[in-house]
Amino acid sequence: VSLSADARLSNAGARDFALPEDEAKAAWEADRQHLLHPWTNFASFKERGSFLVSGARGVHVYDTTGRQYLDGMAGLWCVNLGYGREDIVEAIADQARRMPYFTPFVDVGSLPAADLAKEIARIAPGDLNHVFFTCGGSTANDSAVRLIHFYHALRGKKDKRRLLVQMDSYHGSTYLTHSMSGRHTARSPLLNFETEMVQTLRSPNTYRRPEGMDEAGFLDLLISEMEERILSLGADTIAAFFAEPLMGAGGVIVPPRGYHARVQGLCRKYDILYVSDEVVTGFGRLGHFFASAEHFGLEPDIIISAKGITSGYQPLGAVIYSDRMQAVLNAAPEEAWFTNGFTYSGHPVVCAAALATIRAMEAEDICGHVRENGPKFETALKSLLDIDIVGDVRGSHFMMCVEAVADQKTKELFAPKADVGHRIADHAHELGLIARSIGNLIVLSPPLIFTEDHIAETAATLREAITRTRADLK
Ligand code: PLP
Repeated sequence: VSLSADARLSNAGARDFALPEDEAKAAWEADRQHLLHPWTNFASFKERGSFLVSGARGVHVYDTTGRQYLDGMAGLWCVNLGYGREDIVEAIADQARRMPYFTPFVDVGSLPAADLAKEIARIAPGDLNHVFFTCGGSTANDSAVRLIHFYHALRGKKDKRRLLVQMDSYHGSTYLTHSMSGRHTARSPLLNFETEMVQTLRSPNTYRRPEGMDEAGFLDLLISEMEERILSLGADTIAAFFAEPLMGAGGVIVPPRGYHARVQGLCRKYDILYVSDEVVTGFGRLGHFFASAEHFGLEPDIIISAKGITSGYQPLGAVIYSDRMQAVLNAAPEEAWFTNGFTYSGHPVVCAAALATIRAMEAEDICGHVRENGPKFETALKSLLDIDIVGDVRGSHFMMCVEAVADQKTKELFAPKADVGHRIADHAHELGLIARSIGNLIVLSPPLIFTEDHIAETAATLREAITRTRADLK
């Protein structure tokens, strides 16, 4: 395609990312005819095709006509430092020139992977001083399960294999991690992902708690149900509990206050490992490198990271685990091999991108910026509650969600065919804001460099998009 030569420059903009109309059309057709997208709905794809983005700078993306959009999703919860960062681009190019790849297997490695492992041990909480690298969040969760089973087997607890997960959670798209994802819509009616190994608990969705129950009562219910499940299955069959500290793709669900501490108490009592999936919440989104300890007071046995770890510039996942687990692994007998291996585990170029991301985050105090501006984002979006089809606005810092309802009092939903989430997202798109619809929800997870002006623009645009949707539906 013939993008302007200036499109490579850090100050590139609308004009540089515009394509001649025939080329734009050809690219759109190529996508439609030949590319299977992750999470495709074939019925709507056939009709609408794709929205193709040809360039991005700062907090904006540009379509093939050169039209600018404010990216309220940071790509897919990941481009935390924004687009066009020369320091990260340079780190990637520099490492690719030095050595693009070498095997990470058995006892061979590369400098960036070793450096990054040390950096992660430094910024991770507690005794989480060890890391296994993968190519993204799904493979990190998948690898964590293998590591956990290996760990329990080494302790002579081979039957500890079951995984406790929550309805509404999202842990990935490999066969196993998809089955661990309790998101209602994650389960295609045409495929059966049920597995006896995965046990799904009630969603900790405070907004949708049983009618007439207060938050404290709801918390008691969640905890007692979890303990009953552990006892009925047998604690000696349960390996780990997986949860996002604040659920993302399942609808930015904030559990009741005190939930994490009590779940952790149960995990300790019954020798169940606590895995905190921080693929979204980590790397600054809630104002800390990791939200588990600093935001939620948790001491997980494992943290899963991905997305923001490279600010989305390269694909990387990480299983970050404890000294306690490492002590067990170190005592493994000679015949025991941990045979989980990806060709691109600890890829040097990818690790260089992560190292540059961590450097930039610290040099620019990105976490401090989020702690200061995140609450302003929350307040700006909560002002939308005066629109009568907004039932709930929830989340924390730069991880928020607006839930549309037909009736604020009863929380009744619009009929699915009203497609309310899509309608709002489509109006926002027309108005120049990228927001993501999930069912009746609109999710926002912007680049962490959002300023007060971006926050105000997002809230104003979303207000107009919801108002237009209301007019469509009422
Ligand atoms: N875990 C969580 C909490 C996620 O939000 C995601 C992706 O959205 C994943 C895991 C899967 O990560 P990936 O898409 O990088 O495989």
